[in-house]
Amino acid sequence: MKPLLQNLVEMTGHRDYLRLEVSVLSTLQQLSGILEVRALEVFLLNGVRYIRPRTWMLSGQWTSTESEAGTDPQRRPLDQLPALQTCIQERGSHARANLGKGRHTLWLPVWMHDQVSTCLEVTQSRPFSVHRLEVLTAIFNVYQNYQSLLDYSERDALTGLFNRKTFDEQFARHSGTENRAATAPNDARLPGGELQQWLAVIDIDHFKQVNDRFGHLYGDEVLILMANVLRSSFRSHDRIFRFGGEEFVVLLRSTSLATAHKVFNRFRQAVEEYSFPQVGRITVSVGFVSSASNTPVEILGQADQALYFAKENGRNQVRFYDELVASGDLQARISNEDIELF
Ligand code: GH3
Ligand code: MG
Ligand code: MG
Repeated sequence: MKPLLQNLVEMTGHRDYLRLEVSVLSTLQQLSGILEVRALEVFLLNGVRYIRPRTWMLSGQWTSTESEAGTDPQRRPLDQLPALQTCIQERGSHARANLGKGRHTLWLPVWMHDQVSTCLEVTQSRPFSVHRLEVLTAIFNVYQNYQSLLDYSERDALTGLFNRKTFDEQFARHSGTENRAATAPNDARLPGGELQQWLAVIDIDHFKQVNDRFGHLYGDEVLILMANVLRSSFRSHDRIFRFGGEEFVVLLRSTSLATAHKVFNRFRQAVEEYSFPQVGRITVSVGFVSSASNTPVEILGQADQALYFAKENGRNQVRFYDELVASGDLQARISNEDIELF
């Protein structure tokens, strides 16, 4: 077993939250008498809080839903674990339960800005001694402090959403794993029921006018509120990024085309109906595409083309790249541009 200190040094050498997570799990796993260590995702769905394993050990290897596509572990309502539920409701630092069959479990929720989306779970065969609790909490605190530093560099300071740098890292990781078996993206007969990953580029309509009429501070306020509408419109395992300025990118995971349409349109409508203080009504345009098989640059380019089509055709609408290509709308636009260019 590696000395604990060496493990801690390794842990804090990571600049990537998934590797950091795996590293803290390995550190905990190597303590004596540990049966199992997992990172759980804590999320809300239709007002109910659930947990679901995110990273765990499978046949001697760390497995994570963040990097593996086929793994979609079962979620459990949090109320099946009353000790953890109470701990989260009371913003506690840890919870314990004896789950029978010689399994004593400790949960350590990761609190970030008063929110919990991750919880570490440590299971051992014996009850937790005071000394063991001190060691586990100390390792956890190092992890949590470091996690919040990482979080700071991964997120945009104004909205708290993931930043562009994080998109580049995460998207490179997701694309190619999740969609390896997916149908070619340009297939117009793509069955609506197939589960895939979708990428949308979202741009606020006439945002310059908001700045011009109300000032930059109100513009900033709109961006913050827009981030809140985004957060409440998508599921916890979808990813939302502030891409720059008043442009956002959303990755929808494991969703059918029909649902992607519905979800993006529901968001567009939520924005349209939202009353921004002082500024009033604002709309967004959305372009989306399946993020299968192509390179990140191509996928972004296609979503951008669909977005520009939405902009040129009245704004406040969601456009799907493949449909525009199938109908000839996008080809026509590109060939016109080619003629102009050459
Ligand atoms: P369109 O509907 O075509 O998207 O029109 P638009 O005015 O939104 O588009 P454009 O890209 O011309 O303008 C985006 C503006 O967003 C320009 C810039 O002043 C503003 N902007 C970019 N980042 C920020 C920011 O962080 N805060 C504020 N307040 N404004 C920003
Ligand atoms: Mg823009
Ligand atoms: Mg804009």
